[in-house]
Amino acid sequence: MHTAVNHSHNWVKRAIQLIESDYQRSADTHLIKLNVAAFPAVDIYLKDESTHPTGSLKHRLARSLFLYALCNGWIGPNTPIIESSSGSTAVSEAYFARMLGLPFIAVMPKGTAKKKIEQIEFYGGRAHLVDRSDEIYAESHRLAKELDGHYMDQFTYAERATDWRGNNNIANSIFSQMKLEQHPIPKWIVMSPGTGGTSATIGRFIRYQQCDSKLCVVDPEHSVFYDYFQTGNSTTTLDRGSNIEGIGRPRVEPSFIAGVVDEMIKVPDSHSIVTMQWLHEHLGRKVGPSTGTNLYGVLQLAKKMQQNGESGSIVTLLCDSGERYLDTYYNPQWIEQTIGDISISRDHLKQLLS
Ligand SMILES: *Cc1c(COP(=O)(O)O)cnc(C)c1O
Repeated sequence: MHTAVNHSHNWVKRAIQLIESDYQRSADTHLIKLNVAAFPAVDIYLKDESTHPTGSLKHRLARSLFLYALCNGWIGPNTPIIESSSGSTAVSEAYFARMLGLPFIAVMPKGTAKKKIEQIEFYGGRAHLVDRSDEIYAESHRLAKELDGHYMDQFTYAERATDWRGNNNIANSIFSQMKLEQHPIPKWIVMSPGTGGTSATIGRFIRYQQCDSKLCVVDPEHSVFYDYFQTGNSTTTLDRGSNIEGIGRPRVEPSFIAGVVDEMIKVPDSHSIVTMQWLHEHLGRKVGPSTGTNLYGVLQLAKKMQQNGESGSIVTLLCDSGERYLDTYYNPQWIEQTIGDISISRDHLKQLLS
């Protein structure tokens, strides 16, 4: 018995050491300055989270969730890891599960990008598909029970697994990279919610550091976060998933902390898509659709600042690369079938940028 406990203790120590040494070998992500001719007085920045080893901001979350679970004694040398995910979190968790030699199963809705499923399998994980995006939670609980595994539950633990006071979290990194800019304290930081964890980290950090920055959260068309923010009703649900992968939820996730949000904007899916396309042309790089949602929010706020004669900076996130979505968001046929006619949004964006 004693030996078994020691063995497990040593295993946990080794597991944490593996994750920490991986972190030590990693570099910070870039903060890209975007020049938008329509808003000469507003400096716009993109925190490029696509450059993590597993390709998205979820690399940070996966690392935090594994460390949190290990330090809580929830994971041992033989614990299968289960997660409910629309894809990106599962890719990053599969990477860390393989690092620790643990089996990994992702419970995902059918229709998740093929590239993501391939990436999960590349890291030795397995995809377990369900019909509807609101079924992933119950199925994850069931699997964890059946396999004596641990359900990571990003939608509950994202906000508390991350060290919000600092310790190299994403907000910490943004503010330190902004230090030498003309407007080092952003007027706004804009983020779209999936778990809500990143918004929570940024919002709490702003308050803790006593900054004047405000947090604007941009919610996609098919999601309940915006309604919840307006009404305070946390039981609102939708019977469908979001069209913008990675963001928008059919239920109010526990990790979404409305109290740290200063403003929310609801963004139609077609606006997100045309802004994503605009950024692709402007940056010479494909970005994911949630980055389109983020940037649309930024452009709205920039326009308002310009109308009020204000100058300053706005920071948002480039959440992942568009290379993952070549057969979906970068396929005009798929867009027409899934999102519909986007020509009105194209005109709208043109006007916003004129
Ligand atoms: C998860 C995710 C988001 C939202 O981040 P949260 O911290 O979960 O709110 C945005 N974009 C992409 C691509 C994501 O995977």
